[in-house]
Amino acid sequence: MATTKVIAIDGPSGVGKSTVAKALAKRLNWTYLDTGATYRAVTLAWLEAGRETSLPTQGAWLRQLAVDFQAGDILLQGRVVNDAIRSAEVTANASFISAQAAVRTFLTDLQRRIAGERPCVLDGRDIGTVVFPKAFLKVFLTADDAVRAERRWRQVGAEQADESLDEILKALKERDRKDSTRELAPLKPAEDAWRLATDNLSQAEVIDAIETEARRRLSDEA
Ligand code: C5P
Repeated sequence: MATTKVIAIDGPSGVGKSTVAKALAKRLNWTYLDTGATYRAVTLAWLEAGRETSLPTQGAWLRQLAVDFQAGDILLQGRVVNDAIRSAEVTANASFISAQAAVRTFLTDLQRRIAGERPCVLDGRDIGTVVFPKAFLKVFLTADDAVRAERRWRQVGAEQADESLDEILKALKERDRKDSTRELAPLKPAEDAWRLATDNLSQAEVIDAIETEARRRLSDEA
């Protein structure tokens, strides 16, 4: 498994992982892999299949799901699902799906396969602890609940104006609770993670800090 050219960016919901990871990948000219999108795609498939609770435990059902990335789009059975996976219904059910052992095995394999082929920046919850524990840089981003809710609100505010800041904060805390207390691959920093509290930093400052650290480690390795 090629682990050198992997940057893992983990952290709780709404901390800004995906924006930061995407920008960082662009600066380094590496591929960005949004692992949350893969869990969301399986959640969407499960909702569309009628929410049968035993489905996500079935390897055969999972293996016939074609989850893929192409030119920055997330595909499910060949269909672009970038918007569909961001619905409130998918968000609310993603933690249930991501707690299933068969789903985690299926998606961990997929993520390792994609990132094994090219240098990648991956963001998620368990990249530094489970998917790529030997990544050369493992970042764990944090910010207070209220700060994260506000960031999320600003991000989705335009499309989901019906959700108040309070509702977003409640949903975000509930998702974090489920993600960090589950038995398999819970949300937590790797022991040797590089921790960054982002409360008082702009997005550009977070990206700059990680880029500087990544380039320093890359040049040490060269
Ligand atoms: O990052 P995002 O909010 O899109 O992730 C959606 C859900 O997918 C999370 O709440 C979590 O349950 C799950 N997830 C995970 N492991 C990852 C990435 C996401 O369990 N590496």
